[in-house]
Amino acid sequence: QCPWGAPNTTSISCSLADVMSEQLAKELQLEEENAAFPEVVAVAEGPFITGENVDTSSDLMLAQMLQMEFDREYDAQLRREEKKINGDSKVSISFENYRKVHPYDSDSSEDEVDWQDTRHDPYRADKPTTTPRKGFIGKGKDITTKHDEVVCGRKNTARMENFAPEFHVGDGIGMDLKLSNQVFNALKQHAYSEERRSARLHEKKEHSTAEKAVDPKTRLLLYKMVNSGMLETITGCISTGKESVVFHAYGGKSATEDKVIPPECAIKVFKTTLNEFKNRDKYIKDDYRFKDRFSKLNPRKIIRMWAEKEMHNLTRMQNAGILCPQVVILKKHVLVMSFIGQDQVPAPKLKDVTLSSEDMKKAYYQVLNMMQQLYKECNLVHADLSEYNMLWHDGKVWLIDVSQSVEPTHPHGLEFLFRDCKNVSQFFQKAGVAEALNERELFNAVSGFNITADNEVDFQAEIEALEKMNEDHVQNHGKKLSVFSSDGDPPIYDE
Ligand code: ADP
Ligand code: MN
Repeated sequence: QCPWGAPNTTSISCSLADVMSEQLAKELQLEEENAAFPEVVAVAEGPFITGENVDTSSDLMLAQMLQMEFDREYDAQLRREEKKINGDSKVSISFENYRKVHPYDSDSSEDEVDWQDTRHDPYRADKPTTTPRKGFIGKGKDITTKHDEVVCGRKNTARMENFAPEFHVGDGIGMDLKLSNQVFNALKQHAYSEERRSARLHEKKEHSTAEKAVDPKTRLLLYKMVNSGMLETITGCISTGKESVVFHAYGGKSATEDKVIPPECAIKVFKTTLNEFKNRDKYIKDDYRFKDRFSKLNPRKIIRMWAEKEMHNLTRMQNAGILCPQVVILKKHVLVMSFIGQDQVPAPKLKDVTLSSEDMKKAYYQVLNMMQQLYKECNLVHADLSEYNMLWHDGKVWLIDVSQSVEPTHPHGLEFLFRDCKNVSQFFQKAGVAEALNERELFNAVSGFNITADNEVDFQAEIEALEKMNEDHVQNHGKKLSVFSSDGDPPIYDE
C-alpha cells in the first residue's frame, strides 16, 4: 500500500435540483449586489482635469475606484458568510482579519498627515516666543535630541497601544521594537481607516452625476467621504467658479462621537488647474505668512493651502461669532462646511435677493458690524467682499468665500480693504440705504485709521503710504507696526 494513503476519490454526489437552486441563488445575489453597488460611471473628462495627469493617473484612479468596489463586494460577501456560519450560536467567529484594506488609503495620505495641520492656524502672526526651541534634552555626551531614532522608535511602538483594540499590533513592546516615524505614520493611518471602516454601519450608495465635473483624484476623495459614511449623498453642484466648484451634500455620521456633521453640507473643491490661481499671486506672493512655506511647496500644495486658509479663516470668524459656514472637515483641496440654505436650495446672494428697505438697512448695519469684527477680532480683511459673497439666510447676512482673506498687515491688505469698502458702499447706496457711509468713511470706521483725504486718489495714496511704512518697518525691525494692532495703540517705533 502507498505510504501516503490512497486518495479518496469518492466525490460528494449532488442532485440536479441542488445545482439549479444554487445557481439561482447566485444569480439572485448577483442581481442584489448590482443594485446595491452600481458600476462606476466611466470618467467623463471634466473641464479641469490637469493636462499632466489626464491619461495615466486617471486610469489609476479608475482602477482604485474599481478596486474599492471589489473590496466592498468582497467584504459584503464575508459578512454574509460570517452571518451564515454564526447563525444563532452564542459563540460567534469573526472574519474581521480577512477584510480588505483599500490600497489607496495608504498612499493617498502620505503628505496630508505631515503637511496639513487642521488644528493650528499657521497663518496667525507669530508671537515672540521666549522659550528657545532647542529640541533636545540633557547635555554633553548624554544629549538626546527629540528626533533621536531609538527613543522615537520606542515611543512610536508604545503609541501603537492607542490604536483600536481590534487592530493587531503584536508584541512590539516586549521585543523592544523600534518603529521609524514613516512606518508608524503608515500604521496609524491604516489603523484609523480601519477604525472608521468598522464604525461604518450601513453601506452608503453614491449616485452622483455631479462628481463627473471633478478630476479623478478629487472624485476619489469625495467618494471616500461618502463611502466612510461621513456624507450621506452628494446631490449636485451648486456653483462652478473659476477657482472652485461647490457641491451640496447631505451629511452622514461622523466616525467620532464628539463631532456632529450638519444635516446639509457644502463641499468646496478648489480647482487643481494652476492657471486659475496665477491671478491670485498678489495675495500670496508678498504675504509674510507664506514666506517660509511658499518657496518649498509644489503647485498642488499651494492649492491645498488655499483650502487650508479658507478653513482657518472660517474658524476665526466662527470664533468671533460672525455668521459664516461652519467647517466640517478639510481633506487636501476639498473643504466641507455647513450648507447655508435649506433643502438643497442655497441661500441667495445679496445681489439676487429683493429686500424691503427695512431689511436692506438691517443688512447694511450687519455688514458694517461684520466688517469691523472681521478686522478687529479676526485680524482679517475679506479681500473679496461684495454682494456676490454675502448670502441672505434666515433674515441675516452670512459671509462666505474667505480663502483669499489676508491680515491687515499684508503688503496690500489695506488696499484690499478699501476695495471691499467700495463694493459694500456702492451696493448699499444703490440699494437705497441712506445711512450707508461712503467708501472712505467706511474704511476709517472699519480699520480705525483716520484718513482725511476727501477724494479717492489722495485716499488711495495715503493707504499705500501706510502700507509702505509698515513694510519698511518690517524690513528694518522684523515686526509689524503697532499702529496695525487691533487694540488701537498709537504707532510706536521702539522695540
Ligand atoms: P468662489 O471662489 O468660486 O466664488 P464661493 O465660496 O464664493 O467660491 O462659492 C461659490 C458659490 O457657492 C457661492 O456664491 C454660493 O452660492 C455657493 N456656496 C458656497 N459656499 C456655500 C455654503 N456654505 N452654503 C451654501 N452655498 C454656498
Ligand atoms: Mn465667491
